[in-house]
Amino acid sequence: MTYPIQKTEDEWQALLQAKGAEPAAYQVTRHAATERPFSGKYEGHWADGSYHCVCCGAKLFDSDTKFDAGCGWPSFSLAVPGAIREIEDRSHGMVRTETVCAQCGAHLGHVFPDGPAPSGLRYCMNSASLDFEPPAP
Ligand SMILES: [Zn+2]
Repeated sequence: MTYPIQKTEDEWQALLQAKGAEPAAYQVTRHAATERPFSGKYEGHWADGSYHCVCCGAKLFDSDTKFDAGCGWPSFSLAVPGAIREIEDRSHGMVRTETVCAQCGAHLGHVFPDGPAPSGLRYCMNSASLDFEPPAP
């Protein structure tokens, strides 16, 4: 699978380090690791703004689609159209839908069909994959 933004593993690692991303960001985004529940910085973060891919900066979610799913990870009911690519994930003996950044392929988390109306979706994300930006003044 190819993405518009291509970098080597070393380049991603250096880029995340230079941005001051949390140490887990590289393992989560480039190797599909999952941060521990209730450990991420955005799980209980409710400020107005938008959430972007920590790797390439693409906008993924608006803060008004964030909701408290109680699952320990930041959860959203709606993604920015076209921002996320879905991939069937059959790891760990389950069938889930993995979500990655459509621009750079960064692993973000999974999407489940048990979210609130009207979308009915729950985008269960890793905080380490996201970068919050407050609204422009
Ligand atoms: Zn990205």
